[in-house]
Amino acid sequence: METKYMTAEKFALFVKTYEESGKLPEKKIPCVACGEEVSMFHDNLRHRIAKFGSVTNLLSNFQCRSCRKTEKAPATPKKVKASKSKKPEVKEEITTVSFSPVKLIQSERNVMSFQDIAASKELTQEFTNGSCMQPHMFLNQGRSCKGCIFFDNCLCNCKQVK
Ligand SMILES: [Zn+2]
Repeated sequence: METKYMTAEKFALFVKTYEESGKLPEKKIPCVACGEEVSMFHDNLRHRIAKFGSVTNLLSNFQCRSCRKTEKAPATPKKVKASKSKKPEVKEEITTVSFSPVKLIQSERNVMSFQDIAASKELTQEFTNGSCMQPHMFLNQGRSCKGCIFFDNCLCNCKQVK
């Protein structure tokens, strides 16, 4: 067995030495990923071998701290700054909605004809307080209220008969 940074001979020697003496021929083991040599001896070494299962596993799988960190580090998504120049695409959605036929119901309340309003002094005052009820007539006649049915009780400021 060999690794990127340990020849088969060296690997075999390490395993053999450990099995025979409980020690390694060198106090450092190279990281399998980057080759960085990491010190391991005594309890530290035994602890790591226990963790890896065997000296062979340790030698063939050991990675230094920075390599482990790199592997474990979750891929951080790059923040993409939204380009201000690009306008978000507006997707037009055409939705077809079918309506059931609308029933037109004549409301008995709130429906008043001009005649109804004109017949009541109160209503006329309420409706004409500040605004002309028949501006089309008023303007067509050159600003005159001539013929307006609301004239008698109208409170509009522009009220005048020319
Ligand atoms: Zn490494």
